[in-house]
Parts: sequence; C-alpha cells; structure tokens
Amino acid sequence: MRKYLITLISATVLWMAQNAQAQEKIPVVATFSILADIAKEVGGENVDVKSLVKAGDDAHVFSPSPADAKILSDAKVVLINGLGFEGWMNRLIKNSKTKAKVVTVSEGIKTIKTEEEVESGKNKNHKHNHHHDEVDPHAWQSVENVKIYVNNIAKAFSESDPSNASLYDANAKKYAEQLTLLNTEIEQSLKSIPFEKRKIITSHDAFGYFASRYKVEFIALQGLSTQSEATAKDVARIIQQIKKEKISAVFLENLSDSRLIKQIADETGAKIGGSLYSDSLSLTPEPAGTYLAMMRHNTKQIVDALK
Ligand SMILES: [Zn+2]
Repeated sequence: MRKYLITLISATVLWMAQNAQAQEKIPVVATFSILADIAKEVGGENVDVKSLVKAGDDAHVFSPSPADAKILSDAKVVLINGLGFEGWMNRLIKNSKTKAKVVTVSEGIKTIKTEEEVESGKNKNHKHNHHHDEVDPHAWQSVENVKIYVNNIAKAFSESDPSNASLYDANAKKYAEQLTLLNTEIEQSLKSIPFEKRKIITSHDAFGYFASRYKVEFIALQGLSTQSEATAKDVARIIQQIKKEKISAVFLENLSDSRLIKQIADETGAKIGGSLYSDSLSLTPEPAGTYLAMMRHNTKQIVDALK
C-alpha cells in the first residue's frame, strides 16, 4: 500500500511539474521571421515565439489582421526591430490593447543613414524630388549588431521571467559565441575577393550594414523599403553603372520582384549571382531557415559570384 502511494505521489508530482512547465512558456511575439529565430535561440524551451510576418512575407508592406491583434494581446513580450522597419506596428499595438512588454531589439546599435530620394507633392504637375537622410532599419545584416539584439532580448526575457534569468543569460552567451564564429567566417571567405571587385547589384537597399561591416558595395535598384517601385530611371542608372564599373554580378532577393533584375542582367551581360535573403528567412530549412544559415548562404552566394 505504501509503495503504491509513493508511486502515485511521484507520478502526480511529475505530472504537475510537466504541466507547470508547459504552462510557464512565455508567449513571445516577434515582428518578423529573422527576429523570431534569434528570440528562439535566446529563450530556448522556455518561450513560445510567434512571428507576425511569416517567413517568405515582406515586413515593409505587411498589413496586420485581427488575428495578429489577438496574438499580440496574448503575448507577454513583444520584440520589434524598430528603426522604422515595422511602420504598421504602433497602430497594431494600440488596437490590440496588449499589456505585453514591448522591446526594441536594435536599441544601442550604431545606425547607418542612407540618402533617399523622395517624391513629394500630390499634384502631378508639381511633382518634385528631394533627398533626405533615412535610417537604414536592416541592422541584422551585420552579425555584430545581432549580438546587441541578443543582449536586449535576454534582458527582456529575464525581466519577464526572473526565475530563469541565468538560463537566458547562458543561452545568449552560447548563441553569441556562434555569432562570433559566423562573423569570422564571413570575413575569412570574403578575403579571397579583392576590394575593387566587391560590387553587387540588389533589388532593394537592405544590405547597408553588411556593406559597412564587410566592405562590400551594394548598389540597389530600390530604396530602403520595398514600398516604392523602381522607376525606368532607376533601371537606366543601374545599367549605366554596371557598364561603367564593370560589375559582374547582379542578385535577386527572396522577397522582391525579379523581373527588373533579370532585365538588367540581359541588357548588361552581368550574370545573376543567385538569391540573397534580406528581410525574411526561407520557408524551408534550406537555404536560409535560420539567421545563421541565412548569413552563410548570402556570403557564399556573394563570394561564388565575385570569385
Ligand atoms: Zn528591407
């Protein structure tokens, strides 16, 4: 009888422990797939991370649904990139009435500004262009910046779930080590390409941080966002530049329309160096199912094309 009781008690305790563990997973929302992956690395088994913009979708032109507002209202921690990347987010937060802690993961990074040409004036006859500096939101394209993301995420998780703070800290340290390796790997593999050959054409201006960190020049057809389409003037400008500077490769992007890049390749004889992942992971584990895989894939594509 006593033996039976002990078994029953231990089974109950085990069941309660498992149940508590299942219930305790912190509901976390990240705005896009790359950020969700980084958050999973830091949170491990203790968090349940949902991504608002799914892999394969474009965060620049995302329009949230009522279901997204519900996801947000159920969350305990909301992670956003910030720097103007998620223009739709403030309104969604307000509409969802979420009580979640909202954390801007890019806080503390050194931002890059890019000169954008902006068309202003609603009247067609009085249209004029002007330039202004805009902050580049794609900070994750430099691995060193992602270490700052990781610290901010670990801090947010620890504040929301103090009893597991040491675990988040350990996860963050482990992942940061992988990021350090990745960073070295990228630098090493680019070493074989002379600086003057490191020129690349892409669809939208998403690689400013990669460019600045790893000394590769990216020339983009579109601006920092995919919201405005490339014009005939943009295409002509790029074609001229490819010919003048003898740029050998143009790249497609996973989220952007590939037609114009293909047209440019046709007209200049530049080869298409494959697809780069800028703002979203791939739907499948290959080639860019995680942040680490994405950066390795992009670097390999670039190095192979410029070799
Ligand atoms: Zn982008």
